[in-house]
Amino acid sequence: MSASFHAMWTSLRPIGRSDASGGYRRYAWTGADADCRLWFRMQAEARRLDVETDRNGNQWAWLGDPTAGDAVVTGSHLDSVPDGGAFDGPLGVVSAFAALDELRARGVSFRRPLAIVNFGDEEGARFGLACVGSRLTSGQLTREKAFELRDADGVSLPQAMEAAGHDPSGIGPDPERLARIGAFVELHVEQGRALDLSGDPVGIASAIWPHGRWRYDFHGEANHAGTTRLVDRHDPMLPYAETVLAAREQAELAGAVATFGKIAVEPNGVNAIPSLVRGWLDARAADQESLDTVVAGIETAARAHAARQGVDLAVVRESFTPIVEFGHALRDEIGRILGEASADGVKVPVLGTGAGHDAGILSASIPTAMLFVRNPTGVSHSPAESAAEDDCLAGVRALADVLEGLACR
Ligand SMILES: [Zn+2]
Repeated sequence: MSASFHAMWTSLRPIGRSDASGGYRRYAWTGADADCRLWFRMQAEARRLDVETDRNGNQWAWLGDPTAGDAVVTGSHLDSVPDGGAFDGPLGVVSAFAALDELRARGVSFRRPLAIVNFGDEEGARFGLACVGSRLTSGQLTREKAFELRDADGVSLPQAMEAAGHDPSGIGPDPERLARIGAFVELHVEQGRALDLSGDPVGIASAIWPHGRWRYDFHGEANHAGTTRLVDRHDPMLPYAETVLAAREQAELAGAVATFGKIAVEPNGVNAIPSLVRGWLDARAADQESLDTVVAGIETAARAHAARQGVDLAVVRESFTPIVEFGHALRDEIGRILGEASADGVKVPVLGTGAGHDAGILSASIPTAMLFVRNPTGVSHSPAESAAEDDCLAGVRALADVLEGLACR
């Protein structure tokens, strides 16, 4: 199992890697994506699995009869964010194949069909919407909206699919496919340091935090930076700066995260007091109440600071995703399986995450769970993203235990 993991990791590593950054540029329906899909097909065929690409561009490798129902599915995605790391996505796919190798070495027999999946366009790097493959399949993205998606060059999603040899005419909800799945388990590198802090190589996901984006428009008065007396100014940069600090403070109080990571300034001149400062807030918390508290606290502080400077403030919520709580039945069953599998019956920690996943999308339709593998730095969506090989192998063993418990007993 260790050798097969290593061989897969080595063969996947060069695909879509930028020499300049050391990061990955595996965007949906590009050449790098096609190479990843070919890699997936070769791994599946080497294991005598039946490979198919569904109408929405997700790849499936089946052991057993796909139409039998109550299938156990595992996998993740192979695409990346711009200059992403090697682990986010691929670790789940490689671990899925390695777990199958491990189960075959154990000599188990399967009483439920098993599938390994590579979801298309999870990161949304090209068309600006994450989890397109799973959203289409589950009906959370309509065919009409999908047809409107365009990349930075104006190429539409169906055009990109067609150019890559995938017929886009059939995209849309696929309830028959979902109805055949009894459980989906996605293994993923942790995008945070909870496991590093708890000292565990593997954890089980409890929930994906509710999160949203808010646009703050601070309208002031443009004027000369050299001749306008300080007392005469309506400088929107000042309340904006105070709001950034308030976001940090409110997040700390609530054990949440809040970030102003994008800003637009008008007129954006070195020697001009701005007329407008527009900042985007990304806020996430473990539960809705904490998130509401953080977001309200930031807005209250922003309004007070804006009023003090004679600056107008408009706040617009641009997007919002409610909490995704993974079903307790599957989560508890996985906890029990892993507890029994470990020599001393240790409990595997259960943790929440602030990042979105295909598993989060699918949890609205089918029983879904996630396993996380320790990330020693917590860094993700960066070439510096990492996981120790021992931890990756612990993840494969845990996934194999889970699949055995679900599909073989
Ligand atoms: Zn991912």
